[in-house]
This record gives sequence, structure tokens and C-alpha cells, in this order.
Amino acid sequence: MKAMVINDISLVEEKPLELVDLPDPVPAPGQIRVRVSACGVCHTELDEIEGRVPPSKFPIILGHEIVGRVESLGAGVTNFKEGDRVGIAWINWACGECSFCLKGEENLCDKAKWTGKDVNGGYAQYTVVSADFAYPIPEKFTDLQAAPLLCAGVIGYRALKLSGMEDGKVLGLYGFGASAHIVIQIAKYKYPNGKVFVFTRPKQKEHQNLARKLGADWIGATKDTPPVKLDCAIDSTPVGVPVREALRNLEKGGRVVINAIRKTTPIPELDYAEHLWYEKEVKSVANVTRRDAQEFLPLAAEIAVVPEVREFKLEEANEALILLKQGNIRGAGVLNMLPNMQK
Ligand SMILES: [Zn+2]
Ligand SMILES: [Zn+2]
Repeated sequence: MKAMVINDISLVEEKPLELVDLPDPVPAPGQIRVRVSACGVCHTELDEIEGRVPPSKFPIILGHEIVGRVESLGAGVTNFKEGDRVGIAWINWACGECSFCLKGEENLCDKAKWTGKDVNGGYAQYTVVSADFAYPIPEKFTDLQAAPLLCAGVIGYRALKLSGMEDGKVLGLYGFGASAHIVIQIAKYKYPNGKVFVFTRPKQKEHQNLARKLGADWIGATKDTPPVKLDCAIDSTPVGVPVREALRNLEKGGRVVINAIRKTTPIPELDYAEHLWYEKEVKSVANVTRRDAQEFLPLAAEIAVVPEVREFKLEEANEALILLKQGNIRGAGVLNMLPNMQK
């Protein structure tokens, strides 16, 4: 099979992903082999490539927003059959036995394996995964549209749940990329009387236009002060400053949820009185559980979430990642493994 691999840590501008031929993976007992048709491009890949979240082996195939069709079954698999369309997300496996797993918090499992970090992911024509960690994809979505739902969408859904957002409240979204443009669609559906304020980098006109199209009630730059305080906020930017800005604009008792696995710059020093007093909270969102994916995918179909997708070929993964780092992809970047077959 063809795959894009990295062999070491480096800057993404050095175009470190290399197109190689590898043997097709063989499904172990309990696993399925999936013929990949689409794989989303996520900020976490930048963190992996540049060493903030280093992969546990090299070479490795990145990519954890995978859509494809079951091509063969390992021994004992009964929940899928050949030809089924499935998705694979960041959580690849969890122990099922630790105190976190027993509470349904497998996203916090110490032994968990992450797709494209500890095991090969989806920047390839084939991948294998435990059948317990694959999800049926609702018919409503094309393969390309479904890919960003599997990380950007699922983790956005988890972040929104953790934010404490309720109908009638004001939600702030710092950053408006692959995840936030899905979060706004969930928020507008679940909280019709709520308001969503969107903060972007000052020059991200494309992102701002998309926010307007998706119903943002107010749009500004990261350091702007909105017309009313935020009851809750989700920061999905790769940098530190927006966390402080969100805390500054937060209503008493409000919560900021940080949806980023790592930051490329530190969170600036906080002033206790201005940023934390009055029971303001900061919470990170770490990884996802299977349940998040199982809840979110049917909800996305019900809402008719429309993921905005920019398509790349497998061999263009370096270019897609550089554009992502620059903040120059409107919506979500997706690698199309079957560019001559899919519309
Ligand atoms: Zn991701
Ligand atoms: Zn566990």
C-alpha cells in the first residue's frame, strides 16, 4: 500500500512526510482491516511532527480522522461485515480495566493507544483497528465530509458538553477552524436561544465569513471585548494568549474549556482578580471516548452538520499540514485516498 510516513521529529515546513510503499496490514484477532478512503488533517499531527506530542514509534503513519470500508475481518469479529463503512478516531484502544476505563473515562486511561501516535493511522490506503473502536458512519455524509467529524467534530462535541453551555447562555469560540466550525452548528441546534460569539486572528477573513454564514451572533478578533460577557468559552487555538483573553471576558462562575492537546506558546501570566476571581474555571479537554463518537455521529446526521472540507491528495499531506499551521484552511483539510473515484 501507499502511505505517508514520518521518520523523525522535525518542523513541518521541512516537508517531513515521505510517500512509501508498505505491506498491507493484516488484521489480528478482533481487528478489522479498513480500506481508507478519506483521512482528515488535524492540528495534533503538527504536534506529533514537531515533537510536542511525540509518536511512540518511528516510522509512523499519522492520521486519526479515518473513513473507509471494512475489507477483511480478523478472527472473532462479529459487529461488522465486509463492505461496511466505518470511521476510526483518535482513541484506538483502552485497557477497559483501570479506574478511568471503569468509569467510562477511557480518554484518561494510562494504557490507551492513540491512532497515528502509538499505532499506524490513516495517511495510507489501508489501516487496521480493533472492531470495538470503529463506528458506523451515517449515510448522510460523504466519506470526505465524515472524516473531520471523527476528531474535530467528536472532540468539539466533548468540549461543548464540558463547557456547561445551556440554552439562553453566551458561548465564546476562540479560533474557528475544523473543530469550532462544527461546534457552532451543534450549539445553534441544541441551544436555539443561546448566542455564539466567535474570536479569530485579526486577518482571518475567510474564517470570519464562514462564522457569519454559520450563524455567529458576534465576530471579533482575539483581543476584542464582546458586547456582553461570555457564560462559557471553548479555546481551540494552538497558542496561549486566547486562554487569558477568554478568562478576561468570562462572566462570574463561567468556564473556559481548552480544546488543544498542546500549545505552541505559553498561557501568559494570569491576574487573579481579573482572570480567576468570582469562581471562574479553566478545564482542558483530553482525547475522546468511544461514547463521545457514538453519541456525536448520529447527532451530526440529525443536525445535518455541514462540514466545510478542503480536499488534498495523499501525497499532498505536507502541503496540507503547512497550510493548517499557517491558519489557511477554511473548515477542515481532508486527504482523499481515492481522488479519481470520489466526487
Ligand atoms: Zn485530531
Ligand atoms: Zn484503562
